[in-house]
Amino acid sequence: MSARVLVVDDVEVNRKLLHAKLAHEYFEVTEAVDGFDALEKARATEPDIILLDAMMPRMDGFEACRELKFDPRTEHIPIVMVTALHEREDRLRGLKAGADDFLTKPIHDLQLLSRVRALTKFKFVADELRKREASGRRIGIIDVNPTGRPQTPARVLVLHEDDRQAKRICKYLEGVHNPMTLAEAGGLGTGAATVDIMVISVGGKHFDGLKLCARLRSLETTRDLPILAIIDSDDDSRAIKALELGASDILIKPLDPEELLARVRTQVRKKRYLDALRSRLDQSMELAVTDQLTGLHNRRYLQTQLDQFVSRANMGGGSVSILLGDLDRFKRVNDFYGHDVGDEVLREFSRRLRDNVRPADIACRYGGEEFLVIMPNTSHETAKVVAERIRARVEGEPFIVNKGYDSLDITMSGGVSTTFPPDDDPDQLIKRADEALYRAKEAGRNQILSGESKLENY
Ligand SMILES: [Mg+2]
Repeated sequence: MSARVLVVDDVEVNRKLLHAKLAHEYFEVTEAVDGFDALEKARATEPDIILLDAMMPRMDGFEACRELKFDPRTEHIPIVMVTALHEREDRLRGLKAGADDFLTKPIHDLQLLSRVRALTKFKFVADELRKREASGRRIGIIDVNPTGRPQTPARVLVLHEDDRQAKRICKYLEGVHNPMTLAEAGGLGTGAATVDIMVISVGGKHFDGLKLCARLRSLETTRDLPILAIIDSDDDSRAIKALELGASDILIKPLDPEELLARVRTQVRKKRYLDALRSRLDQSMELAVTDQLTGLHNRRYLQTQLDQFVSRANMGGGSVSILLGDLDRFKRVNDFYGHDVGDEVLREFSRRLRDNVRPADIACRYGGEEFLVIMPNTSHETAKVVAERIRARVEGEPFIVNKGYDSLDITMSGGVSTTFPPDDDPDQLIKRADEALYRAKEAGRNQILSGESKLENY
């Protein structure tokens, strides 16, 4: 997975060194010499990730970071702040300015690559979700929190073969997050899916943390769970293995409590951001196929489903039947009681419709007061029984509307049709149901008729 990296540093040697290391791993690299230059290049080239030196003349890294995170054009680009080794204050300042991660100089190759890889992977997923959202409907129900504004404590599960060590790690996290050891969690079980992040020590002699990483990645429920792997300082090969097996980030011993907190925070923030994007996407997908007034499926959804069922039936699959239903004299309801009451009637009718179709049936609003039910794998005779039950439920009880002030007797008429393989098509199917519906209206309404005139004579 290649990505475009913008390297920002005022010292040419530093830039060239980073450039060479990244280019060697097939990243595409551009360079900027200070904060101003960084803003300009970031806007012009839209990199996938920015490595930002903290100390620079003119505009330093912290200010550049704030500017980049403030600009809607660049706020989604992950930033790694690069600070001098012992400047712990700077790391905190960087994170406060909105940086997604940090590296200390001199830069350790493995850490550089693991951070850059983790962040680009995250960005690609987020970009894909954002793209899909943009092409669907924009609704903005959920407040997505892309940068590091206040968040609720995370549930952290700490796995270490030495229980004392596990407790010590928990202690570092307490106050900010809700950590627990494996013993406190009562074993792994299904609990793994309910935590926000796992911190796993992979250096143990009796406990195979690497195997656990791989296992968590393979399970549906924990596939997206962030994993922070703790590695011994002299064990590069294990660190590489951990990243290959799906660890989201690594932490090298000896543990720096502040770094532990920062990495947990970064991972949790990303997970929550992706979760929010996904759920917003799910909602907009849901909206795109749902009729707003009735909550039934809309016509667009109906069309795609019906196309599939009919072509399956044409190829020898089960026959598909449909009911095309229409409320009788609905115009009168609107004229006498107004459109609000008309809407109430449509909603109540939809509720009865939903309650009386079978689980596999697909109930849709077809137009104004017209409804269509797709009944997969259903014979014509069975479809008529289902349709008749719906009709009877509509007639059976009056519709109570207008906050209980009015009680309306509502009826419906309907036409039922069934596929004729091998060359039926959805339009013909609907046309036959529509013709039967028309006859039902002519014959005095409140009845269901068959649209099988192609084969039978009525
Ligand atoms: Mg500098």
